[in-house]
Amino acid sequence: MPVVSVSMPAELIERLDSHATAHDYTGRSEVVREGARALLTEFDDDTLEGESLAGVISVFYDFGTQHVERRVTELRHEHDDHIASNDHSHVDDYCVDLFVLEAALEDISAFVGTLRAIEDVETVDYSLVPIESVGQLQDA
Ligand SMILES: [Zn+2]
Repeated sequence: MPVVSVSMPAELIERLDSHATAHDYTGRSEVVREGARALLTEFDDDTLEGESLAGVISVFYDFGTQHVERRVTELRHEHDDHIASNDHSHVDDYCVDLFVLEAALEDISAFVGTLRAIEDVETVDYSLVPIESVGQLQDA
């Protein structure tokens, strides 16, 4: 197996090591491999392929990180076709952008991936709802 060198904050390395110990991984490399697999297969869901989805996405970053705010605004314009709404809030010392998208899985996957790749974005979370499934339980 090839060996790669990856730079990351010391705190993240400590958390990887703690996670490896707590869950009996052979070491941090195994944790990183598992994390990489999870990231790369995150949106591999055949049941959602071709569905029209509602995606609710939250993006946290430090207040006053202007390059992040600028990039998020650019993305908002680039993905305007799929964005139903966008709200910018402040929570504690963070800016929080909340997006509601109406799009296919691949579009939401691309949007989430691009947000995560912005340097200094702290977290990106999301939930997906197949639009056809909304209200089905009430009708049954
Ligand atoms: Zn802000």
